[in-house]
Amino acid sequence: MAWDTPLADRVKNLKPSPTLAVDAKAKALKAQGIDIVNLSAGEPDFDTPDHIKEAAIKAIKEGFTKYTPVGGIAELKDAILAKMKRHYGLEYTPEQVLVSTGGKQGLYNVIQAMVNPGDEVIVPVPYWVSYPAIIELAGGIPVFLPSEASTNFAIDMERLKALVNSKTKAIILNSPSNPTGAVYDTETLRAVAEFAVEKGFYIITDDIYDEIRFDGKGPENPASVLPEAKDHVIVANGVSKTYAMTGWRIGYLAGPNPVIKAATKIQSQSTSNANSIAQKAAASALSGPQDCVARMVEAFRQRRDYIVDRLNGMEGISCPMPQGAFYVFPDLSAFSGSRAGGKTISTSLDMADYLLEEAKIACVPGIAFGDDRFIRFSYATDPKIIEEGMNRLEEALKKLEK
Ligand code: PMP
Ligand code: GLU
Repeated sequence: MAWDTPLADRVKNLKPSPTLAVDAKAKALKAQGIDIVNLSAGEPDFDTPDHIKEAAIKAIKEGFTKYTPVGGIAELKDAILAKMKRHYGLEYTPEQVLVSTGGKQGLYNVIQAMVNPGDEVIVPVPYWVSYPAIIELAGGIPVFLPSEASTNFAIDMERLKALVNSKTKAIILNSPSNPTGAVYDTETLRAVAEFAVEKGFYIITDDIYDEIRFDGKGPENPASVLPEAKDHVIVANGVSKTYAMTGWRIGYLAGPNPVIKAATKIQSQSTSNANSIAQKAAASALSGPQDCVARMVEAFRQRRDYIVDRLNGMEGISCPMPQGAFYVFPDLSAFSGSRAGGKTISTSLDMADYLLEEAKIACVPGIAFGDDRFIRFSYATDPKIIEEGMNRLEEALKKLEK
């Protein structure tokens, strides 16, 4: 008699992260010698700056290789407190900060700490791929708040108000956004913060792209625009994107004491402290020279200008101008129903498959972010690769029959 594999219910409908899956597929094809243009992963192509690497090498040489406090070393917490003050004008105590293994674990911990089975968490669409899965793993229910490219994916306050009820625990905001690159304006952040205070729900603000902005403005979040709302706001951030440190795995939370204490408890029973050496490197990133950030942001800005221009120059594509992060999210729905080699393109997944097969371009279908009209391209890669990708895209789209 065959036995069912004894897996838990919670993983039965869980899908692996689609962004990591596409990236892994692209890298595997490349390793086989296939000429792939990889515009999938949200990972800066820059090397981690040298002074950050030096801090890690020093940590190893000095034997800083043991367990640290679960919540993170004092030096890194101090650097995080200084960053929160410098960019947001917000004061936290070290107990109000938790250092985790990447921004993703910080988000996981906070949802585990706050969400009961049946609790609702509002997720604006398009959303970063992991939010619904992280909510569902806690037994929570993601409640989706749609947005439109025509309003630059702004939050519609009337629609938000209609979704909030007694089960609403939190809303997750992500500005600048992955996948759209959109930035919420100050008025929107204030309106959501006021509404959260009024109704008593929390805002989890995923600020991981906060310094990668092209609008000349500094980072902002609901707590910085409405300091009275600070006790309703949990900040999730990390060093992965700003300092090209995706592999080091350091993220952090800042928020009210009870929430951070609970999230720390969860971490103490799951992964313990984040890597000791990477914590030293992250402290150096946050408190060392910041000109490396300005250089990378300027490079991203030039790439953004190029890729948006190319995309909007192609018939059938409409691409909003992102104000931050390093993604473009063009609308390719005009190609829905077109055919290539006997196959019909009906969904964003069909389009992503077609681009991979026909043009050897790796990208992420919009459906992974909750909107099937779009495709996400990451431009955190070499300008020559972006140019080649756009040339291939143009050719591949021309081959489609209406
Ligand atoms: N939030 C968003 C919106 C992201 O794009 C990412 C990138 N993976 C993360 C969180 C998590 O970052 P990390 O690599 O530090 O876990
Ligand atoms: N956040 C990046 C992306 O969206 C990395 C992949 C992931 O963590 O899912 O591509």
